[in-house]
Amino acid sequence: MKPAYDFVIIGSGFGGSVSAYRLTAEQKRLGRPASVCVMERGKRYLRGQFPRDVGRPKDFSFRNEGRDGWHGIFDVRSGDNISVLCGAGVGGGSLVYLDVQVDAFASTFDIVGPEGRRRWPSTVNWHEEMPGYYARMESMLRPSPIPDPPLKTIALREAAHGAGMAERFKLVDLAVFWGKQGGERGVVFNDPYQRGGPPQGACQMCGECFLGCNTHSKNTLDLNYLWFAERAGAEVFSQHRVTRIEPRPGGGYTVYFDDLAAQSPGSVTARNVVVSAGTTGSTELMLKCKHGYRSGRTQFAPTMPRISEMLGRYFSGNGDFGAVAFQSRRVTEPAVGPTITAAIDCRDLLDGHGFYIEDGGIPEVLRANMRLYPGGVSTGQRVLHWLRGLVSTRTPASLAEQVFDLLDLEAVRNALVYLTMGIDAADGVMSIDQAGQLQIHWDHTQSMRYLRKVEETLRAISETPVPGSDGPGIAANLMLNPTWSFNKHLLTLHPLGGCPMGDDETMGVVSPAGEIFNYPGLYITDGSIIPTALGPNPSKTIGAVSERVGDHIIAKGI
Ligand SMILES: Cc1cc2nc3c(=O)[nH]c(=O)nc-3n(C[C@H](O)[C@H](O)[C@H](O)COP(=O)(O)OP(=O)(O)OC[C@H]3O[C@@H](n4cnc5c(N)ncnc54)[C@H](O)[C@@H]3O)c2cc1C
Repeated sequence: MKPAYDFVIIGSGFGGSVSAYRLTAEQKRLGRPASVCVMERGKRYLRGQFPRDVGRPKDFSFRNEGRDGWHGIFDVRSGDNISVLCGAGVGGGSLVYLDVQVDAFASTFDIVGPEGRRRWPSTVNWHEEMPGYYARMESMLRPSPIPDPPLKTIALREAAHGAGMAERFKLVDLAVFWGKQGGERGVVFNDPYQRGGPPQGACQMCGECFLGCNTHSKNTLDLNYLWFAERAGAEVFSQHRVTRIEPRPGGGYTVYFDDLAAQSPGSVTARNVVVSAGTTGSTELMLKCKHGYRSGRTQFAPTMPRISEMLGRYFSGNGDFGAVAFQSRRVTEPAVGPTITAAIDCRDLLDGHGFYIEDGGIPEVLRANMRLYPGGVSTGQRVLHWLRGLVSTRTPASLAEQVFDLLDLEAVRNALVYLTMGIDAADGVMSIDQAGQLQIHWDHTQSMRYLRKVEETLRAISETPVPGSDGPGIAANLMLNPTWSFNKHLLTLHPLGGCPMGDDETMGVVSPAGEIFNYPGLYITDGSIIPTALGPNPSKTIGAVSERVGDHIIAKGI
């Protein structure tokens, strides 16, 4: 690593990879040497390197604390009434995400929050500007619907039909390479999109998207945006976790980090810094800069006390709500196909602030692993431990055991998993404790109207018609997310907010161009700057907004 760069980018997910590509490409276009450094706390995974042995939790969990920490691909943060799951690795959340690339509900851009404020900056016409940025995401990630839908997709269509919602069913666009002519499952193609990209295998329908795609069929960011950034000269440092940012007298910033592989601290300077550590990562980092924190015996003073008081506000789980329809009268085989394939589009409900119900999946490798545990399912202690960590460290141990006992592994073959997301109130707050650890405070009260409608709709599509009668529908038994049913605790894969955009510092932490108010040359672009729930899966919008931020940094002069 050089001692100084024009740009240091923190994190390599949707915000970081888009920024790395745009800024490096612009330097190249101007005939300047690339001077872009990307620091990512997670590991780099090459084709075939994603872990599969669920008995090795260190491969799956990312944790800072403990001797040397754990550097796996999932980071779980447990908060009040909500837990957040996100990815860690070169490519960020795209490594574990479920491939869905869809635009936000148009109604999002006009949302007024429960506090009575218009959330998106009013100086930008988002309806007019976003389509162009969405198009850029599409040209890079090449999303398209699955060409040959598997059984679970048909089951979701039938579920919609049964509830009189057939016209709401649709296949969703997935950032997956399906092969050139179809029927080529598992075949590896050199540079399949013919643009100087890496080899990728055609999707083999293994349902393991969630665990990292070992065939590189998923168009993750390390295979496109970041791939091209590196080829244009961007330097990417994996296992580098940024701990602090400090303004330098006379301009620019010093970025402090821990090299997790070498177990040594370091620092680098930059004229400009782009923080893209994700909703939880960026908010935690900026809270540490604003308020200071203690690490062991060392007290770190605040480095940027003038960050807006809006820091930490507008947290949203994007309305994520999971459920399973058991004992359906259809064979669903949820292990076959990409994890998500289709949706029931309910965006028009709740005055245009509705939701999307997607099918989910259960990778066969998880099922198979469970069976291998000595003593069988009921004593699969390590799996229970992993599941419990995933759901919530604050959930009683017995709950994970009850859930696990309910899971008859054969019954999974005709179970339909639902992943619902939509417009919640986005009124959560994030803060840090004295040690600089993120705390998430979320309360469902303002989102109850939304959650009730979701439950009512899930029940209608699952339990119609009544078991035994003929006609469309799957006639199943609905089980809501048990952590919600037991103690009103939700799990989100789609955290947003914390460093919201706003017209000025009383309304947000960053300007619509992503620049932090009072700190020129310091930008944030990732899920944390999104000031509301978006409705469906958010990564396309996060990437599109990051494209927009990139344009503004370039226009300012790099
Ligand atoms: C299981 C799962 C499935 C999902 N499926 C979908 C889907 O199908 N479609 C969709 O649109 N969205 C999906 N999402 C959500 C999507 O992944 C996120 O919205 C998206 O990745 C957020 O982009 P981001 O740039 O904000 O952050 P991220 O992609 O999370 O990137 C942040 C990066 O910063 C790194 N980082 C954090 N802190 C530091 C630090 N201090 N120093 C250095 N690096 C740091 C992280 O390791 C991470 O790599 C899914 C998420 C999960 C977990």
